[in-house]
Amino acid sequence: MISYTLIRSKRKTTEIQVRVDGVIVRAPKRLGIGEIDRFVASKEAWIIKKQAEIEKQLVAVKNQPKVNLLTKDELTALANQALAVIPERVVHYARIIGVDYGRITIKNQRTRWGSCSSKGNLNFNCLLMLTPLEVIDSVVVHELCHRKQMNHSKKFYEEVYKAYPEYDKWNKWLKDNGNAIMARNVVLDKTGKSKDAVTSPNLSTREKAKILALEWQAGDDLEEKLAKELREEILARHLVLQDFKMAKKV
Ligand SMILES: [Zn+2]
Repeated sequence: MISYTLIRSKRKTTEIQVRVDGVIVRAPKRLGIGEIDRFVASKEAWIIKKQAEIEKQLVAVKNQPKVNLLTKDELTALANQALAVIPERVVHYARIIGVDYGRITIKNQRTRWGSCSSKGNLNFNCLLMLTPLEVIDSVVVHELCHRKQMNHSKKFYEEVYKAYPEYDKWNKWLKDNGNAIMARNVVLDKTGKSKDAVTSPNLSTREKAKILALEWQAGDDLEEKLAKELREEILARHLVLQDFKMAKKV
């Protein structure tokens, strides 16, 4: 006999829900207990099957490697590191490629490693600091070559390979490992959604008065504690298991 928690309410159907914390049966207020028991008994095989599936999910979740989320302090450190490293690489490769550029901005994005605007403003992701220098160079070269070709045409890649013959190798590295690095960057706004950019006024001047803006995704207005709670919530959300329901009209 399957044990279950019975919840009676104003409803017309009887529903069995198999959850990680047990079996819930929702039934109409006046339905006799005998009938409910018979219904549950008739679905015993289905319930046992679903319980086994949940057990399997639990094991899978337990064996799942934990995403090691970056803290706000760690992200700040990466952004500062990026400010110290990336502009120099830009200067170096801009000379080789023979292009100019505008503002360099270090961002903390969840989807992009770099970008180049039509005005030549360059954005780089601070998470690049978690990749080899060769990868950083490949992204810098890629963005700078957009100063010559605003597309991904054959001509564009010719420029890329000329400046950086090992481009494919390190681009592949980023394709293979990049998502796992991006996944470590979960920054949340007050509603618990991940957010893409909040500008901070921390600017530093470098390289011929070009402004390096440190755009900061983690809201400084977010209290540390709140951020931590939201992080945990996100982690918990990864652990939500699928429930199984079945209903019968009686
Ligand atoms: Zn591109």
